[in-house]
Amino acid sequence: MSITTYNKKKKPKTSTCFICGRSFDAGYDGIIAEGARYGIRFCQTCGLGKTDPFLTEEEFKKIYSSTYREEDSTRFFSPLEKVIRLLRVHRCRSVERFGKKGRILDVGCGRGDFLLLMKERGWEPTGLELDERIERHGKKIGIDLRSGSLETVRFPDSHFEAVTFWHVFEHLKNPEWALKECRRILKPGGLFVISVPNIGSLQARLSGKHWFHLDPPFHLYHYSLENLNKLLDRASFKTLKVKHFSLEYNPYGYIQSIFNSIGFRPNLFYDFLRSKMTKKDSYASVAVMFLLMPVVLPLSLILSVTEAALRAGGTIDLYARKEG
Ligand SMILES: [Zn+2]
Repeated sequence: MSITTYNKKKKPKTSTCFICGRSFDAGYDGIIAEGARYGIRFCQTCGLGKTDPFLTEEEFKKIYSSTYREEDSTRFFSPLEKVIRLLRVHRCRSVERFGKKGRILDVGCGRGDFLLLMKERGWEPTGLELDERIERHGKKIGIDLRSGSLETVRFPDSHFEAVTFWHVFEHLKNPEWALKECRRILKPGGLFVISVPNIGSLQARLSGKHWFHLDPPFHLYHYSLENLNKLLDRASFKTLKVKHFSLEYNPYGYIQSIFNSIGFRPNLFYDFLRSKMTKKDSYASVAVMFLLMPVVLPLSLILSVTEAALRAGGTIDLYARKEG
């Protein structure tokens, strides 16, 4: 994959914030994930977070090749997958509310579930995913899914009516370049959608280093609405709408962060839902979490609604228009 050779000269500096140029300062330490220890450093000026250590090119390639998500298997057990599908329809409607029907590019499209729905609604979808098996899957479901990234797959100027990043932007190593590239491939007035965890949210502040959506080492940068707006403004995108409530992400953000905070093995419940528990994990702990659920679930829902009302949602969906 040519990501390794891409843009060597313009490699972003590791020690300074790419939004405001200030150095990253202290933050969280000792977050255990994927068998290693991570920290999050914060820019004291704009609040941008950066995972430390940052993924090397080798690690980056490895986790996004074929192991991160199994191509033909479900991520969660099937009733939950059905609920997620319903929420995807809501996503489609939101895109249609702000964008003009036509060509749509979904960056980091997973198995193309969202694009499949958009195709049914009359859009012309293209998907990008790093997993090299995605093209074969695309042929199977009848969608143009391409293996690679914005750096490796080049599209013509002013080509798309909409470009979407559903929980992908925080995984990008060079987000500023990606914004410029999206600006190039979007038609004038085209719709740009970014959905990211919000480091300025109530749940991020309450949970600190136990916050589920920090997700190191996969999430490289940690955005807030303020610094994201600054970034978009600089790339000549005008924010049209920001959604602070996501039933798919926000209540679960609280549930898992509460469990992480009170001493369970970090993300154990999440791994149980994904059928990814290890031999060392205890089913008794999972049983205790289920017993706590009558308290934790309503609390999480109430907090998610509250933070949305305060415009401090755990994850945010931002809809913007290419200006000029
Ligand atoms: Zn900054």
